[in-house]
Amino acid sequence: MSISISGIGISRGIAIGAVYRLEQGDIEVYEAVIPKELVEDEISRFRRAVRAARQQLKAIRNSIPETTPADITDFIDTHLLMLEDSLLTAAPLELIRQRQCNAEWALKIQRDALAKVFDEMDDPYLRTRKDDVDHVVTRILRILIGQETHTDPQDSTRLRDAIVLAHDLTPAETALLQHQGIAGFVTESGGPLSHTAILARSLGLPAIVGTHITPHQIRDGDTVVLDALQGMLLADVDTATLKDYRRLQREQQKHRIELNRLKDQPAVTGDGILIHLVANVELREDVLAARRAGAGGIGLYRTEFLFMNRSDAPDEEEQLKQYLSVVKTLKGLPVTIRTLDLGSDKKSSAEPPGEHVSANPALGLRAIRLCLKHADLFRPQLRAILRASAKGPVHMMIPMLSSAHELNDVLALIDDVKQELHRERLAFDWNMPIGGMIEVPAAALSATLFARKLDFLSIGTNDLIQYTLAIDRVDDEVTYLYDPLHPAVLRLIKMVIDAGQQYDAPVAMCGEMAGDTRYTRLLLGMGLTDFSVHPTALLEVKDVIHHSRVADITCMVNNILEQDEPVKINEQLEVLNKM
Ligand code: PEP
Ligand code: MG
Repeated sequence: MSISISGIGISRGIAIGAVYRLEQGDIEVYEAVIPKELVEDEISRFRRAVRAARQQLKAIRNSIPETTPADITDFIDTHLLMLEDSLLTAAPLELIRQRQCNAEWALKIQRDALAKVFDEMDDPYLRTRKDDVDHVVTRILRILIGQETHTDPQDSTRLRDAIVLAHDLTPAETALLQHQGIAGFVTESGGPLSHTAILARSLGLPAIVGTHITPHQIRDGDTVVLDALQGMLLADVDTATLKDYRRLQREQQKHRIELNRLKDQPAVTGDGILIHLVANVELREDVLAARRAGAGGIGLYRTEFLFMNRSDAPDEEEQLKQYLSVVKTLKGLPVTIRTLDLGSDKKSSAEPPGEHVSANPALGLRAIRLCLKHADLFRPQLRAILRASAKGPVHMMIPMLSSAHELNDVLALIDDVKQELHRERLAFDWNMPIGGMIEVPAAALSATLFARKLDFLSIGTNDLIQYTLAIDRVDDEVTYLYDPLHPAVLRLIKMVIDAGQQYDAPVAMCGEMAGDTRYTRLLLGMGLTDFSVHPTALLEVKDVIHHSRVADITCMVNNILEQDEPVKINEQLEVLNKM
């Protein structure tokens, strides 16, 4: 009988191959007392290990071909930088001296202290940065205990086309393994936001993390099937199943090759309507990924990530530098920079301390509400975005608007900042388009007001659904209620699209719904012509756009919008998607 192991699929695709088990697991570290006269020797031992770790990483970096995407070398550079950081390299020396302990134990104490700091961070992305610390610490520990790092190319022939099973993989190891020709990998630990996961997606490697593989379940050399999309690893599969997966794999490969051909093609529907298809980005890696996928620009740049992982807010000059680097990378393609959306689940220690703790932070001082209250935080950002607009097509977008009062306040503030920049003779685009996100039901219901006063609107379905259906988007107890097809959600979306058409304000969608191909036709039929999606979803959405004729689906979409029975909506959507 076949064995099936589930985990979190962090990329797509199917890989079939022989298992290559990387012998890793946690390194057990014990405390040993070092006699006083040997403390300096222990310190030298630790220093030598750090030097050797640096050499290993530099060797890995040099072995990677020049054609490798910059994001991969960036990961290795991050680890190299960590090896320069006193928190990892100097603090353990102090501990060896103070406690007269062995180097391994000192490193473990320091690692645990750093892990605690990361664990207390609210931001899930930053919490996963703890993995980087672990990877660097493990590298030093292996050197200290004399264990080889497992990606030293010991058995390249066995690695080719293999499915690697490991406790965890560093980004550097992942890059090396990919160069050794592995077909995919499965790790016991790790999350979808880790650098290794980002890398797997950017390298197109099928991969699953967060599995719990027991040693006797799968042996070295066993043929296994890795279905990354489903987050499944299958072993002991019968010939018929294997044949089915091979067929599926061939179909997916063919589909990917076909999709790549769409990269430079315009996103035009079968009946000739040009769709503006752009990408959402949070990190610098995403801007490159967006360009590689042929995005027509960036429709949502979430700037709050610049404010995280630090105790102070980036000043105007630092922000300007970041925005200009995005503008430069995009080489003339437009970027919509969203002003700070801090608060709720996106916390930053750079955020001004609140006077009270909100019982419902998603309904509290978040996004534009926070920014209007703290002009000292907001003005430098407005100035930086405006100044970036002098160098390329930059649009500014305001999150979580809910009332005319707020809209007027923010527009007045932007005007004031423009006057100030003008007086200071600093260059900016007076006509830089200013848009607003429609993410609160009140804003959707009064969308005409926003469409009249703003240059464009963008529907943030992640929050619009949260606020319409009263479901906390980060509470997994109510995730089952999160439904983009709820008739109330569909009607609100339609109202916003119609308001935009009425007042000639382009309406985009940048929530996750825009990147889910199940909804592409429905949204096209509702009149949406501007989609901002995650870079990895871009070509799939473009493919559906090419295969849709708006004239043929509008009538059916109107029927769907009139339904109030979820079952009927789902049934009709299925028919629509098969048309
Ligand atoms: C949204 O709410 O749909 C959105 C795009 O913004 P965020 O996910 O950053 O809240
Ligand atoms: Mg939002």
